[in-house]
Amino acid sequence: MKIICVGRNYVDHIKELSNDRPTDPVIFIKPDTALIDSSQAFYYPSFSNDVHYELELVYRIGKVGKNIEAKFAHKYIDAIGLGIDFTARDVQTRLKEKGLPWEKAKAFNGSAFVSTMQAIQGFDLVEPIEFELQKNGEIVQQGNSNLMIWNIAELIEDISKYFTLKTGDYIFTGTPAGVGPLTVGDQLSGYLSGNKLFDLSIK
Ligand code: ZN
Repeated sequence: MKIICVGRNYVDHIKELSNDRPTDPVIFIKPDTALIDSSQAFYYPSFSNDVHYELELVYRIGKVGKNIEAKFAHKYIDAIGLGIDFTARDVQTRLKEKGLPWEKAKAFNGSAFVSTMQAIQGFDLVEPIEFELQKNGEIVQQGNSNLMIWNIAELIEDISKYFTLKTGDYIFTGTPAGVGPLTVGDQLSGYLSGNKLFDLSIK
């Protein structure tokens, strides 16, 4: 199982980090050791003083494929949910300044939280999906899938040119604006189309 993440997929988030709008999807990968689920907590890592939450729509792959055309992408997805792409922003900033890979900032243990997943039946890939993150009961991020620069079908077409998708892989589709820092003791809650999908403690 691998976790494929998309960076810079929402214009408003690109602006808040003063990044350039990409001409192709920005893709990075987290190892299976990054994965945590709703039965666990996120443990603040010792190597960072500025861990940020990034709430993202997550799709799960239901069958093996490569070189998948966008029009067939829906056949390869079996579930949707929410994820948090935990990011050590201070580490990432240092790495970006030197033009180095992001893994230490993005792919560390516990950096990929995935909520319980909902079977894809009833979801149309082009239908807008709203999602929201609350931190300690206050709304900090609100997103809508129709604001993605590349939608999930286009992402699957691009990703599967480079990486064979396998059953159980997760695709994190990028974060909207509103990312911000976490403190030990924070409580995060995620909502998909108005339904609460997870609670997660920062320890
Ligand atoms: Zn992200």
